[in-house]
Amino acid sequence: MDTPPTPRPFHLLAKPTGAACNLDCSYCFFLSKAQLYPGSRLRMDDAGLEAYIRQLLEAQPGPEVVVAWQGGEPTLMGLPFFRRAVELVARYRRPGVDIQYTIQTNGTRLDDEWARFFKDNNFLVGLSVDGPRELHDRHRRTKGGGGSFDQVLAGWEALKRHGVDTNILCTVHADNGDHPLDVYRYFRDGLGARHLQFIPVIERATAETINLTAAGWGDDHAATRPLYRQQGDRAAPRSVGASQYGAFLTAIWDEWVRRDVGTVFVQAFDVALGNRLGRYALCVHAPTCGDALVLEHNGDLYSCDHYVEPDYRLGNIHDTPLVELVASPRQRQFGQEKQDALPQMCRDCDVLHQCHGGCPKDRFATTPDGEPGLNHLCEGYRAFFRHIAPAVDFMAGELLAQRPPAAVMGEMKRRDRDLQAAVARAGRNDPCPCGSGRKAKHCHGTG
Ligand code: SF4
Ligand code: SF4
Repeated sequence: MDTPPTPRPFHLLAKPTGAACNLDCSYCFFLSKAQLYPGSRLRMDDAGLEAYIRQLLEAQPGPEVVVAWQGGEPTLMGLPFFRRAVELVARYRRPGVDIQYTIQTNGTRLDDEWARFFKDNNFLVGLSVDGPRELHDRHRRTKGGGGSFDQVLAGWEALKRHGVDTNILCTVHADNGDHPLDVYRYFRDGLGARHLQFIPVIERATAETINLTAAGWGDDHAATRPLYRQQGDRAAPRSVGASQYGAFLTAIWDEWVRRDVGTVFVQAFDVALGNRLGRYALCVHAPTCGDALVLEHNGDLYSCDHYVEPDYRLGNIHDTPLVELVASPRQRQFGQEKQDALPQMCRDCDVLHQCHGGCPKDRFATTPDGEPGLNHLCEGYRAFFRHIAPAVDFMAGELLAQRPPAAVMGEMKRRDRDLQAAVARAGRNDPCPCGSGRKAKHCHGTG
């Protein structure tokens, strides 16, 4: 007799509306996933909702279960759907298990009623914003082609009025990628946001699909757009560049580490500190992955949100229990491959402990000696992780000594003063004391 699979913790993102969305963001290749379900209304029905909740709560072994919603745009389901979800959770949760609800939304449909519901049920609401109006509206557009900024802001204000826990998800693309401090300061000072995520936009394409990909994914292109797959070694022009992404994170880090530690929480920075301590909180920078799966509106389960495509469909939870699909050899192999497929350049890399090669979906570059499988963002990752290493070491030391890491802000100011004093003492043609290798006159300002 087969032994039942051992439950293991995993994260499941449910997409109750599949790819359906009320916006037409030009970089959102997920809109093309509607092609997986031709003729479908793309709505999770009540039986699907109940199967999802029941199986999720049965399959999770730990004391806390995250019930997570994403899209498309999940609020298109309407509030009664989510009220019903909360009822089902109450029916199926084991005594003593804590429930954390999360939802990722474009925010355009949120009002006081939604916000009250989120607050009453302790939802963490992720809001997609790409920066101040002119940067946000560059790609996050309505079906009619207009900007979505005003609607998103109205949603944000409703959330704030009701004291809902929030997280800003900013996608970093070629257009806002050159404006890191405008974006960061807008979130911190303009919105008063305290939890931020910066996710790189990379639209991968082949020689055959690059022109169609570059045209965008909105309804205007519904007849011609290909089904997005993680294939090809090209990136559409909206994608953030490698050094651009590294410089984006670095600029925000330099401001954050001197004034905002402990008051603003940036996912990439928390992850770096966690990795330094051997605690992996984000699959992208963990040695292996495979514990973050996606459930489509009809019960189809896929290996990952970035691999909703036929080759990565594990099965359907109406036919095979969720716990079996999560523990299946195929899914374990998917997660292990992240480590096994690392090119030698990554294995030898001084920041491997931070980077772990990044997400496999972005590994379509070639190393200088011709080995495939290098991450498209490598140059940016390497520069960023090297730049932050001294401060991360300091913060890790503070944490290990059971002190708050915010002391790094004073330490950075002290180092800045020391550097300025050393630069002032250096000759204009001497190597800059900052260690950049450049002459002082071209570097830290004695010129
Ligand atoms: S493929 Fe990428 S996003 Fe998906 S689980 Fe693995 S690391 Fe995470
Ligand atoms: S920085 Fe580049 S070489 Fe180093 S682990 Fe990351 S992707 Fe690999």
